[in-house]
Amino acid sequence: MNSTTESLNIEQFQDDLINWFEAEQRDLPWRKDQDPYKVWVSEIMLQQTRVDTVIPYFNRFIEKFPTIEKLSEADEESVMKAWEGLGYYSRVRNLQAAVREVHESYGGIVPNTPEGIRKLRGVGPYTAGAILSIAYGVPEPAVDGNVMRVISRILLIWEDIAKASSRKVFEAAIREMISHENPSYFNQALMELGALICTPTSPSCLLCPVREHCQAFFEGVQDQLPVKTKKKSVRHVELVAAVLKDDNNRFLIHKRSDKGLLANLWEFPNVEKSKLIKSKNILQDFLKDDYHIEINLDKSFTDIQHVFSHLTWDIEVYSGQIIGTVEENETLKLVTEEELTNYAFPVSHQKMWKAFLEL
Ligand code: SF4
Repeated sequence: MNSTTESLNIEQFQDDLINWFEAEQRDLPWRKDQDPYKVWVSEIMLQQTRVDTVIPYFNRFIEKFPTIEKLSEADEESVMKAWEGLGYYSRVRNLQAAVREVHESYGGIVPNTPEGIRKLRGVGPYTAGAILSIAYGVPEPAVDGNVMRVISRILLIWEDIAKASSRKVFEAAIREMISHENPSYFNQALMELGALICTPTSPSCLLCPVREHCQAFFEGVQDQLPVKTKKKSVRHVELVAAVLKDDNNRFLIHKRSDKGLLANLWEFPNVEKSKLIKSKNILQDFLKDDYHIEINLDKSFTDIQHVFSHLTWDIEVYSGQIIGTVEENETLKLVTEEELTNYAFPVSHQKMWKAFLEL
């Protein structure tokens, strides 16, 4: 037993936690069966994204790509489209690459060992632990920020959870505590407790099924835990964008680079204001210089703000007309309104399109 769990009645804690989960768990679509592929998809979607947002995406994604084989064979554009709006798009690119590897190298069977599963692209310690415990009943910890918060309170752990090295402390503690009879419910119950009861602010201690085991509650310090140092400040970027139409009612769209933020998604032409601060006609100059496209802009019809974890975008959006011809290529296309729906756009550009259609 390690020092952090020595005052815990582990068996009683497991019983209290799992009994509560059996009685109170939410009815979520990925809990309907233990198919490792579905558990995997749900866990990747749930990274950085709220449960309520994920539910319809998960249902649509599984309907479209119900098996490892189907997702392996799908073309990237349709997979990106199914993920459109969920954000953090590298998640789905990694997921498809890893699923292809499982299909081609493992006979379509998701590996059931920590060593095997951790080799897959995009599968970190948390996702590995979640899949192994939920789908295969392997007693592996699945430690994310949610679980660190709960455990830091129960065991009075004062490590800074913003530091990558802290994860090991929590994993070690969970290895001591995890139920070997039901690791799936144990891990899911910790996640559920963090989501429903032991929330970041004002945890509902009076409703908590493990209150009797909780050292932070006992000492009255639950509001001081977990320790988490602040992230770096958010960068603010101003952009100009335009929904541009040609004489044949086709719209100009551009594919983002295959590296970096929102890689490989499609967008309406846009440019950072700071890049061309001297010009009054920022977007015209940009399109003329970089793409040899002449345009006439109308008035700005909306402002869109989008907040990423490290960055905010403030986008001034115009409509406009393309003059002359456009040299189309792999990353620059003219598409009809109907064709446009086949391309995956970031949320900010979907909003632009919606606002444009309402003009
Ligand atoms: S008693 Fe309060 S702080 Fe402790 S685990 Fe329960 S909800 Fe969290």
